[in-house]
Amino acid sequence: MFNSVLIPIDLSNASAAKSIIQVAKQVGGKAAKIRLLTVIESIPQYIAAEIPFDYVEKSSKEALRHLKAIATESGHERLEVEVVSGGSPGSAILDEAESWGADVIIIASHKPGLQDYFLGSTAARVVRHAKCPVLVMR
Ligand code: ADP
Repeated sequence: MFNSVLIPIDLSNASAAKSIIQVAKQVGGKAAKIRLLTVIESIPQYIAAEIPFDYVEKSSKEALRHLKAIATESGHERLEVEVVSGGSPGSAILDEAESWGADVIIIASHKPGLQDYFLGSTAARVVRHAKCPVLVMR
């Protein structure tokens, strides 16, 4: 049984979140902790100069609000939310999985509408490098 389930969520394509949380409830034990994670990507220096200085802070707060709304809607009591900023989503997901001690990661294979691709770039990186099992949702 998996006791700690990590679900990375790309909030620009969050439509699958609800069904992934349902799967997490099934693969985790009754007492399993489930954590939703969104990564705010770091911004290249040449772009950083063109956008508001507080862009990352505002995006992180907005992402946290959005994740909390998804968590509340799911009705699951032990659902935690986390937003991290910096680095690429793939690396940040792998770091979080290790530091939090995830037993399993459940990740969508790619953006909706890209069915011809087996795995998106973030999903591929997580599948290749995770030290725990990864369940890829198609
Ligand atoms: P695509 O290249 O088609 O966008 P990705 O591999 O980026 O596919 O996305 C697949 C999955 O990876 C997403 O559904 C989500 O689970 C995870 N993911 C992608 N970007 C992020 C992000 N910024 N934060 C958290 N998870 C992400």
